Amino acid sequence: MIRFDAVSKAYPDGTVAVDELSLTAPSGQITVLVGPSGCGKTTSLRMVNRMVEPTSGTITIDDRDVTSVSATDLRRGIGYVIQHAGLFPHRTVVDNVATVPLLTGTGRRQARRRAIELMELVGLPASFADRYPAQLSGGQQQRVGVARALAADPPVMLMDEPFSAVDPVVRDQLQQEFLRLQGELGKTILFVTHDIDEAITLGDRVAVLAVGGRLAQVAAPADLLAT
Ligand code: ADP
Ligand code: ADP
Repeated sequence: MIRFDAVSKAYPDGTVAVDELSLTAPSGQITVLVGPSGCGKTTSLRMVNRMVEPTSGTITIDDRDVTSVSATDLRRGIGYVIQHAGLFPHRTVVDNVATVPLLTGTGRRQARRRAIELMELVGLPASFADRYPAQLSGGQQQRVGVARALAADPPVMLMDEPFSAVDPVVRDQLQQEFLRLQGELGKTILFVTHDIDEAITLGDRVAVLAVGGRLAQVAAPADLLAT
């Protein structure tokens, strides 16, 4: 479980991005942070893997303060997927997926074998292994991004608008496949989107943020619809 306890972030220029956020993201569930642009969603997500340090408050994962371990160790247990996949353009698909295992000492052959399994898990044919990111569609690149995040088998996944840059038909497909995958994997997921429909489709719980970084509401999707 990820827990935010009265977490605030003011950037050096005085912008209050997140204001006293208290929220839990239960283990094995998808918790969606939704709200308009600028309401502090990305900042909230990045405080979990310590790309951004809170001004005050604490964040714990399974009751352990995220600041109690080094950022490197912390990130080993946290997959991170962003909007434009953030793939390394000069590395092949399989090497992108295997980035973390290769960095942490897994042998090439084993890393490649596992990377191809992960590609298939996210719906990418093994024949794409030796292509470069630019030779893939946007939706396919996002699949590579998800496979790369899964490669370290992290219990926690942070996902920042992972499906927002692809066309609506592909987005629907990615959402459905992502739900099926999560049904198997049961990761603890914090998922950021500005799209309320996506929040309702994917969220076990939906946290609505308002401009100024305040939490407006937390509800199951069905209850959200009722309000
Ligand atoms: P969202 O993801 O909901 O669009 P962000 O977390 O990116 O929101 O940003 C929240 C607020 O913090 C916005 O007003 C944004 O302009 C501001 N902000 C984000 N990053 C920085 C930064 N590095 N320095 C100053 N202000 C920032
Ligand atoms: P930018 O300012 O270009 O967005 P960031 O400071 O956000 O760069 O991050 C630098 C790089 O580190 C990013 O490409 C991001 O993918 C990577 N990164 C940060 N945290 C993690 C993580 N927990 N897991 C994997 N990659 C990470």
